[in-house]
Amino acid sequence: MSENKDPHVAQGVKFVFDFTEGNKDLKDLLGGKGANLAEMTNLGLPVPPGFTISTEACKVYLDSGDEPAALRDEVSAHLTALEKKMGKKLGQADDPLLVSVRSGAKFSMPGMMDTVLNIGLSDKSVQGLAKQAGDDRFAWDSYRRLIQMFGKTVLGVDGELFEDALEKAKDAKKVTVDTDLDAAELKKLVTRFKKIVKAEAGRDFPQDPREQMDLAIHAVFDSWNTERAKLYRRQERIPHDLGTAVNVCSMVFGNLGPDSGTGVAFTRDPASGHQGVYGDYLQNAQGEDVVAGIRNTVPLADLEQIDKKSYDQLMQIMETLETHYKDLCDIEFTIERGQLWMLQTRVGKRTAGAAFRIATQLVDQGLIDEAEALQRVNGAQLAQLMFPRFDEDAKVEQLGRGIAASPGAAVGKAVFDSYTAIKWSRSGEKVILIRRETNPDDLDGMIAAEGILTSRGGKTSHAAVVARGMGKTCVCGAEDLEVDTKRRRLTVNGHVVEEGDVVSIDGSTGKVYLGEVPVVPSPVVEYFEGRMHAGADDADELVQAVHRIMAFADGKRRLRVRANADNAEDALRARRFGAQGIGLCRTEHMFLGERRELVEHLILADTEEERENALKELLPLQKRDFVELFEAMDGLPVTVRLLDPPLHEFLPDITELSVRVALAESRKDHNENDLRLLQAVHRLHEQNPMLGLRGVRLGLVIPGLFTMQVRAIAEAAAERKEAKGDPRAEIMIPLVGTVQELEIVREEAEQVIAEVERTTGVHLKLALGTMIELPRAALTAGQIAEAAEFFSFGTNDLTQTVWGFSRDDVEASFFTAYLEKGIFGVSPFETIDKDGVGKLVRDAVAAGRATRPDLKLGVCGEHGGDPESVHFFHEVGLDYVSCSPFRIPVARLEAGRAASTSTGSDHR
Ligand code: ADP
Ligand code: MG
Ligand code: MG
Repeated sequence: MSENKDPHVAQGVKFVFDFTEGNKDLKDLLGGKGANLAEMTNLGLPVPPGFTISTEACKVYLDSGDEPAALRDEVSAHLTALEKKMGKKLGQADDPLLVSVRSGAKFSMPGMMDTVLNIGLSDKSVQGLAKQAGDDRFAWDSYRRLIQMFGKTVLGVDGELFEDALEKAKDAKKVTVDTDLDAAELKKLVTRFKKIVKAEAGRDFPQDPREQMDLAIHAVFDSWNTERAKLYRRQERIPHDLGTAVNVCSMVFGNLGPDSGTGVAFTRDPASGHQGVYGDYLQNAQGEDVVAGIRNTVPLADLEQIDKKSYDQLMQIMETLETHYKDLCDIEFTIERGQLWMLQTRVGKRTAGAAFRIATQLVDQGLIDEAEALQRVNGAQLAQLMFPRFDEDAKVEQLGRGIAASPGAAVGKAVFDSYTAIKWSRSGEKVILIRRETNPDDLDGMIAAEGILTSRGGKTSHAAVVARGMGKTCVCGAEDLEVDTKRRRLTVNGHVVEEGDVVSIDGSTGKVYLGEVPVVPSPVVEYFEGRMHAGADDADELVQAVHRIMAFADGKRRLRVRANADNAEDALRARRFGAQGIGLCRTEHMFLGERRELVEHLILADTEEERENALKELLPLQKRDFVELFEAMDGLPVTVRLLDPPLHEFLPDITELSVRVALAESRKDHNENDLRLLQAVHRLHEQNPMLGLRGVRLGLVIPGLFTMQVRAIAEAAAERKEAKGDPRAEIMIPLVGTVQELEIVREEAEQVIAEVERTTGVHLKLALGTMIELPRAALTAGQIAEAAEFFSFGTNDLTQTVWGFSRDDVEASFFTAYLEKGIFGVSPFETIDKDGVGKLVRDAVAAGRATRPDLKLGVCGEHGGDPESVHFFHEVGLDYVSCSPFRIPVARLEAGRAASTSTGSDHR
């Protein structure tokens, strides 16, 4: 890109920011890591000086293939300023300034982009570093680390080659840990590493410090588009065009001996939310050593004995950060010869249960208000808490115990590599992925598995962090288990678990069991079911937190929440879960089972009399269903949809029937009924039933069908009224495309209702409305509202007809390809397509209300229970959403979140 055409230059855009220039709200520009480093710097915390190259620079690089023209000079200016501050130059031979080059996008993407430490070391400056530190070993250790990290992440050399060389060096000296290698051995290792680089990368390890830095910066930019990063973004629905920032940070050293070290910490337990000292510390170590499991870490609490001054300071800083961020923070720190340095902080990931508990704890501490508490949790987390758990009373054989890293109960066959996990899960097997520890290459396997089990690593290990992010059950660091990935088995106390053996893991307790452990419902579900009370003395902490958050949500939400339920049992559960009515009662279920035969009679009727007889037989059965339903939902609205599916769905399968008839014929055994049925099946056969004779079309061409249903509803309502009940039935006509269809059905229905009122002497107030599930209905909503007292958006069919997708066909055949290609980030059947389907909904709402200001508006497609869609429906002004009973709590919560404005939080 030529300089004068660069729009950034024209606008005087700046690409590099000193840590003193940013703040935590600049995540779009500086990435999460950079924004928080700046925030800590400005809080006066001990952060090693440095600067951040913005995501804007990365975007230019990714778009044009080259860094913006102004970047080099800007970096030089900031580097010079940094050198001045530190009193030494990058890579200076006698006293080198060293830096780390660290990626950091807006959203943290675990394991995606590796940091390179110790940049600036070379064959010359390694000597200077040794002299300055008075420690040869330290200098050569730092240098070998640089070549290793640089070789792997920047030059793309297979990291195992370095690992193997390191192992060999340890073996040669018969030691097991890297700290036992002395300066001379490390120096030899450096030579070995340089040879590996030369052989594998086809170039020498760069000796020019600035070249090292520039190459590393470009490698960070490039890493935005690795396959793994793209997969993670798709999974997490992170846009692909954000780009990453790059942080250049002056080095501090945790590998300067036993009075140095590196650690990670949480301000609260990310699994329970309890306050306390949570973290790991490793003496004489650098960077990732603490989470890589190369040596055994000590609990953070032990730091008090090791270095009381640094420990006290750290505790104070953690308190400062929590109060400042008003949330659980996670922290990376390093101690260099007794001096504490803060290297990273961010609002920490947490389990679903902890999210609820922390939100209420912070309200109690006066740090956040109710509206903000609602922003700290989400429907997906609530859904996760509603998962079943292992039965504590079951007879189990415990194999071992690890760290409870991500909750849930997972059962599956043991597999020991990601490839097998994917292969087996594709053929429908449930698998548990068992590894010594995971790395980013295991991502696909982790996605495929029911749960993840590792024998090494703590709560901050790759497996733990990624599993929590995915909401997947994970037990990590189960040290008793000896995992042998080569022989595909694990041994524990003489017990051998082979590939394919069933294991059960409990991510809430860390326990690992042999065989399949039965599961029981979650306490949160027990609470919603009313079998457990939040006020009880022994009520579980989580249940109390959920109870309070739900009360916040119910207090704030404008949207009402109804259930899709077809029978009294589901209706009663929905009511317990907080449903304020039924938004969709499908009547087709009422035509199945033993009643199917009656429907057959209806379809096969040759004369009016036969048809009427069939309907007459169906009427009392339908009526009884409605009486039960209205009783269960007494006082609350119940929307009954008249018959929707094509009639052939009630007839036998065409092939089966053909065979039966053919066999009978060959035996000369004529079955008149089967023959007639077969004719009917042929007559009713449709090329595309989704767009055929169904919905209102049935009501218009099959005399008496809809009126029978209306009569059943009306008579049931009258009966309930006579019993002093309060039935609130609403009659809903499906698949209307034009107001004329609705007018005809409406007129007939009104006659029937009037007749029932006359004969029973009961006054009925039955609302009549329609579904909006065809594009034409949405486009002519203004006209349709003249004949409808309510609209219920059928977003399943509306999505099918707007996109021209037949759901069953597309989901199975090409949706994965569409998702992979990023055509949409999530299936439009899961989350409403706001730009297309959503636009029709929005316009139809406006047009409908223009005709009839008191038009009642709701949605009854599955989107009614989807968190993101609920926010959309709130925004376009619907009155209610309706979803399956189990998703009602999620919809209530999300409706409350949508209605309460955030006071500026760090949460996505
Ligand atoms: P990640 O995004 O994977 O957390 P980081 O950029 O935080 O990567 O760096 C990886 C490791 O290196 C962390 O343990 C971090 O604390 C450490 N680290 C990064 N920069 C420095 C530095 N300037 N001095 C010392 N350690 C550093
Ligand atoms: Mg980090
Ligand atoms: Mg429909």
